[in-house]
Amino acid sequence: MTTHLYALDFDGVLCDSCGESATSALKAAKIRWPELFERMDSSVDEWIIDQMHILRPVVETGYENLLLVRLLMEIRFPPIRRSSVSSSAGLTVEMILENWAELKPGLMKDWKEESEPLVNLFGKVRDEWIDKDLAGWIGANRLYPGIADALKFASSELYIVTTKQSRFADALLQQLAGITLPPHRIYGLGSGPKVQVLKQIQRKPEHKGLSFHFVEDRLKTLKNVVQEPELDGWNIYLCNWGYNTANERIEAESIPRIQLLEISDFSKKLK
Ligand SMILES: [Mg+2]
Repeated sequence: MTTHLYALDFDGVLCDSCGESATSALKAAKIRWPELFERMDSSVDEWIIDQMHILRPVVETGYENLLLVRLLMEIRFPPIRRSSVSSSAGLTVEMILENWAELKPGLMKDWKEESEPLVNLFGKVRDEWIDKDLAGWIGANRLYPGIADALKFASSELYIVTTKQSRFADALLQQLAGITLPPHRIYGLGSGPKVQVLKQIQRKPEHKGLSFHFVEDRLKTLKNVVQEPELDGWNIYLCNWGYNTANERIEAESIPRIQLLEISDFSKKLK
């Protein structure tokens, strides 16, 4: 008999979409700032994509990937530097990882960029990729090891709670895991803040008496859950394989409500 309900974040918990978002950002950056990429060969593309994997935890909204691509380019090639941030001596990927929130406004100002056009461009590039080459786009994503089977054989009630568009999460689950969740099981972009979604799930009459679990890779989101008295009954987990930093995992350990979760334990729990 089912007694457990799991609400699962998608990117960074089930799916490693970092290759996809980094590739989309690189495509978009080449459209936005073509002059930066003149005379660059494809080894630079590879280097950028590698660095973007390290920097993925700092990304809150997709367009920030574009800013990171440009900053990486400026770090690597001093002649194209147009920001005091990239011009400061010795800026490293590790420094970006720890200080992104402080660095970002200065970069936007120095580069004379606004978020909205970048958001739109990033969305457009991704949509075009999906339209023209769905198989290629899906192939740029991967599920973390063991996730497909864990979902397939889960005896718990499963919900997906993500900021991704539902149709993309659905397509990826079908293609990469071979599972189809009913649409009402996927709360995607536009469903409102995750805290509200968890309340909605909890309030459903058919869920009375279940024990609730929420698995997420973003510490900020879990801290929001901790602050909601109505969600006191939820077990909440920070997964240690997704997009968070070592410092965030250390911070999570100091918050009694939050449990750190390893991927092998996660698969066992869903059974
Ligand atoms: Mg996530």
